[in-house]
Amino acid sequence: MTKTKIVATIGPASFDESTIIKMADKGLATIRINTAHIEPGYITDVSRLVYRINKEHNKKLGIMVDLKGPELRTGQFQDGILNIVAGKIYQISDSPGIKSDISINYKISDYIDKDTLIAINDGRVRFNVESIGNGIIMAQAMDNGTLHDRSRVNIPGKYIELGILTDRDKMFIEESLKNDINFYALSFVQSRENVYELQDYIYDRNGRGDIISKIETKSGYDNLESIVKASDFIMVARGDLGVELPLKEVAMAQKRIIKISHKYAVPTIVATQMLESMVNLDSPTRAEVSDVTNAILDDTDAVMLSEETAMGKYPVEAVTYLYEISKYVESQSLSFPEPENFMVDPIAFSVAKGVKIMSSTIDVSSIVALTRSGHTAKIISAIRPVNDIYAVVQSEWVARSINLMKGVVPVILPHEYAQKEDIYEIINKIAPLGFLQPGEKTIVVSGSPSLYLGGTNNIRVLSIGRFMGRGYPAGTSVTGKVDPDIPENGNIILLDKYENTIDYSKYKAIIIKSDVTNRIIDKFLDLGKTLVYNAELVEKIDKNITISIDADTGIITGI
Ligand code: PGA
Ligand code: MN
Repeated sequence: MTKTKIVATIGPASFDESTIIKMADKGLATIRINTAHIEPGYITDVSRLVYRINKEHNKKLGIMVDLKGPELRTGQFQDGILNIVAGKIYQISDSPGIKSDISINYKISDYIDKDTLIAINDGRVRFNVESIGNGIIMAQAMDNGTLHDRSRVNIPGKYIELGILTDRDKMFIEESLKNDINFYALSFVQSRENVYELQDYIYDRNGRGDIISKIETKSGYDNLESIVKASDFIMVARGDLGVELPLKEVAMAQKRIIKISHKYAVPTIVATQMLESMVNLDSPTRAEVSDVTNAILDDTDAVMLSEETAMGKYPVEAVTYLYEISKYVESQSLSFPEPENFMVDPIAFSVAKGVKIMSSTIDVSSIVALTRSGHTAKIISAIRPVNDIYAVVQSEWVARSINLMKGVVPVILPHEYAQKEDIYEIINKIAPLGFLQPGEKTIVVSGSPSLYLGGTNNIRVLSIGRFMGRGYPAGTSVTGKVDPDIPENGNIILLDKYENTIDYSKYKAIIIKSDVTNRIIDKFLDLGKTLVYNAELVEKIDKNITISIDADTGIITGI
């Protein structure tokens, strides 16, 4: 799997079992439901299918319900459309019952002045305000174009007090809470107060959910830092942001949003038009591939697809492209700098820093975080170690939530081991689940006194496998078999004492129980062999088992 996570919006093009499974096999982490286009009951239908797929196919797909918030929209037009001619003056009303060319569903006249820009239809048709009076705004069209019923309206750069949750949003939150949805994406966040409002709403109903604040207004962008601090995730919602900010500023805004989010260990999602041409075509444009590449290099946690997977012709191919691009870019650019001015609590900070230093200094294959709430996984992810982070959790819900963080691979601990207090025992029990290979080393981060509950204050380096003994190592780590009865049968030989008469060339490694001289150590090193001397074995080595020698520690483990 890739470190960069993938979000795909579900819709008619992708709402079926085999498509979701195919997308999940290509690294899909989270399914987004855009509530702009759904009927009540849809969230329940999607949840049922996704949770079943998770169960039957061992996936950790989370669901994101994207709440639309109080969008500014036009009313309806006589024939469903209105053709706009550049240069012409139009009447815009923002009060019900006043006749005009165009109506708008909120009282915007309190917030605008002469020369304010009104952008309709994703900024394609712009108007300049000439005068305001008696519920009618006179505005001159700046572009030719067509407006349709309920076209999106933006007033770039103006803070408009709209509230944040509409009745329709609240209805979908209720349905989401019943389905224990993981993520709530909040549209048009303008201040942290908006985030608090959604959090209160969920809290008051004894629900749970991570809030993804969509940065897509000028005021949201201006209040970025306080919104980030209040949020669980941040989305760079480039569709609307590109209308609210001058287009040329969006790519730099993306970098700043990701950077500030990282500072607080808040994971990010880059959204909209990532592979838009794939709505109709089976391959993306060069510019789109370049955009995805740059989002990964900007160090986002996740990239998102909208129409591509909701209603496009090639949903699986689009996810596959994101997967392949991520895999390639990550192979070329292994290390990402840790966040500047990393603002997390000092204990978590120093543990994360310690883990990162250890993982880059010691030859470890992975990092394992034993975490109850997922907090440890989030902090370790944010400091961007090179290794994958296997986050061992006890709750399915937490697994789905942390699955959206860069480099995090959630593992649900089999229930019978959850009560164990011995790290070594837990690691060896979860190793057979497939991600830790015997003989490899891993860094384990946990809490203390209880492995899961004690906060993050404990780091250990462990070798995977059954501990069989230890000696002084020389050479490189190897895995092989020992036959104590007929030594020449194995590819690792076990001796009580060094013997001059043996042809060592066929062995990968030599384990000697006694001490040896430097001449002997150098002889084996010159031959390119691994040596463990002064080996003390606590378990008898059986000819049927494979053993691993860790050349950093001299630890001998068995499978
Ligand atoms: P939307 O949000 O697709 O719900 O509008 C994303 C964006 O604006 O980019
Ligand atoms: Mn938007």
